[in-house]
This record gives sequence, structure tokens and C-alpha cells, in this order.
Amino acid sequence: MKKIAIIAHDGKKPEMVNFINKNIEKLKKAKLIATGTTGTHVENTGLSVEKKLSGPIGGDAQIAALAAEKKLSMILFFRDPLGKHPHEPDVQMLMRICDVHNIPIATNPATAQLLVDAYFKD
Ligand code: PGA
Repeated sequence: MKKIAIIAHDGKKPEMVNFINKNIEKLKKAKLIATGTTGTHVENTGLSVEKKLSGPIGGDAQIAALAAEKKLSMILFFRDPLGKHPHEPDVQMLMRICDVHNIPIATNPATAQLLVDAYFKD
């Protein structure tokens, strides 16, 4: 079963929820894991999700650790490029770890859609 990690910065949570609702049938076929607050929004769509810590207190780092262990099929990261984030070093670390281990990571909704379509085309 595909394991998909979802992270959304606060400024992008509405777009993330729209994305989930639009792709809910596909995402039902995956095991979902998310940072804390993102996970609560995902739960509110009716999907079940394993919640890690909130991003600023280590959730992105926990997701990165799973990527380093190759335990994730992909990461959907709804990143806000216009906001300031206290955990920017963790964000950079997450993206670097994905590149080290060749883990697909989408950083905007258009790429997230392409990844999800590619993974669930059957
Ligand atoms: P959150 O964390 O889902 O707990 O809001 C996301 C983030 O900002 O990395």
C-alpha cells in the first residue's frame, strides 16, 4: 500500500483541503501520514491519517526521518513560499533528505496532482 505524507503550511491549508476533497477516492487507497495540524484537517475530510507532531515542533523532521528510511512513497508538501516559518531549517532538511533518497516530493498543488494521478492511474 502506498504511504503518502501530507504537510501544509498554514497559508496553504485551504488549498490542501480542496486537494484532498478532489482526490478523496484515490487517497482512500493510500495510508496517510501528516504533521499535526495538517492531520486534523485531513481527518475532517473523513480520511484516516496517522498524525505526527506539528511542523514547527518537529513534525517535518519526523516525516523526513521516514523518508530517510524509505518508508514513504511520496510527500505532498503544500508549501507557502510567501510566509515566514520558524522551522525553515527543518523544511530545507526535509527537501534535502528527499533528494538524497530520491523520494518524490511535490511542493505545490499542481505537482501534487501529477504525482497522485501517476500513482493511482489504474
Ligand atoms: P502543521 O505543520 O501541519 O502542524 O501545521 C505543518 C508545517 O508548518 O510544517
